[in-house]
Amino acid sequence: MNVLILNSGSSSLKFQVIATDLDRIKQHKDDRLCKGEVERIGGEAIVTLQVGKQPRQKFTAPLRDISAALDFIVRHIVSDQSGIAEIQGAADIHAVGHRVVHGGERFTESAIITDDVLQGIEDCIDLAPLHNPNNIKGIQAARELFGKALPQVAVFDTAFHHSLSEMAYLYAVPYHLYRRHRIRRYGFHGTSHRYVAYRYRALRRLSREQTHVITLHLGNGCSAAAIRGGASVDTSMGMTPLEGLVMGTRSGDVDPAIVNLIAIKEGLSAQEVETLLNTQSGLLGISGLSNDMRILQSELKEHDDRRVRLAIDVFCYRARKYIGAFLACMGGADAVVFTGGIGENSPAIRAGICEGLQWAGLQLDDKHNQETNAREGKISTDDSRLQAYVIPTDEELLIARDTVRCILGEPHPS
Ligand code: AMP
Repeated sequence: MNVLILNSGSSSLKFQVIATDLDRIKQHKDDRLCKGEVERIGGEAIVTLQVGKQPRQKFTAPLRDISAALDFIVRHIVSDQSGIAEIQGAADIHAVGHRVVHGGERFTESAIITDDVLQGIEDCIDLAPLHNPNNIKGIQAARELFGKALPQVAVFDTAFHHSLSEMAYLYAVPYHLYRRHRIRRYGFHGTSHRYVAYRYRALRRLSREQTHVITLHLGNGCSAAAIRGGASVDTSMGMTPLEGLVMGTRSGDVDPAIVNLIAIKEGLSAQEVETLLNTQSGLLGISGLSNDMRILQSELKEHDDRRVRLAIDVFCYRARKYIGAFLACMGGADAVVFTGGIGENSPAIRAGICEGLQWAGLQLDDKHNQETNAREGKISTDDSRLQAYVIPTDEELLIARDTVRCILGEPHPS
């Protein structure tokens, strides 16, 4: 089955086509036929496409909305020009899997998109006003293009964290706010945490029930998850993706009282302060230079800038603090797993986070840490009580597999 995977944002559309079915899943023989992205939708859009291991193709085209972007990429993928032998026409795309950010309390696992499911995703718009409307546009565009008969599946960023207990998801605010407005922790990056926990147990040949890990997704957005018995028991992101770890431009945890204080002192509205916490804070806010960890690290190397060092130190300290907290919450873990652009590629940040976790039994193997980048591997010493791993995430693969399993009515453990 050739599954088109879509991740639609406000002005971008990321896509992949993965060929998979139940046998391929079992044998890990899923085949990524192509991947790419349309950026700057709404104007002269930039389209990048990579087919297998061939060099990346790049085009520009005036694409006014997600529908036009999807139409453009599908036309290209199915044409001879793309060079994808497995896809000769639109009929060779057998299903569509969508990344959907918020599934609220209703969606505890991936779901085939019916009118009722689409309504459910719409009902979650007030929980994720910046994300769900774009995801819905992607779903509607695919329905228009392929017709309603082509199966489509929604894979939710929140679903993996449905197993959080009330104790972990409730905020200590008046309970009626939860009842009336569903104000609680939902958690995000669920597909990524679930994927790396699954790869960890595959690497160590463990059952789901034997999987006790802390996963750290460190990219532009960052989150930690405490996974006990294969299920998420706590996570750092909250009602929205703003809570928790320090991120590229997001503050993560702050004292809620500073929202009003900043509003008064800076003459901003509450909405403007929230935007400041989302877009001008985190690594960018502290360093005053960049949200990009690579830029910060090279700046640190070349100029030893104090604020850049501070940004990186606060980033590592916050992550370490969450590891300690989650170890306490989950009664200890067997490993910490690093993923995301920073987690997969930066030995220095991994070392910075693990520094001082020797008390918990975590001892990095310096050589393995330096050498394990963009690939799976253990980076702690053999005798560490708390192991550390690097496992590159692959949310699209999990979306493709869930799509196949949903369509065939097979279980797809979240
Ligand atoms: P993601 O959102 O997962 O694509 O991750 C983006 C983040 O990963 C950015 O902050 C990048 O600077 C960072 N990143 C990617 N490669 C490296 C690297 N080799 N060293 C440090 N940070 C990296």
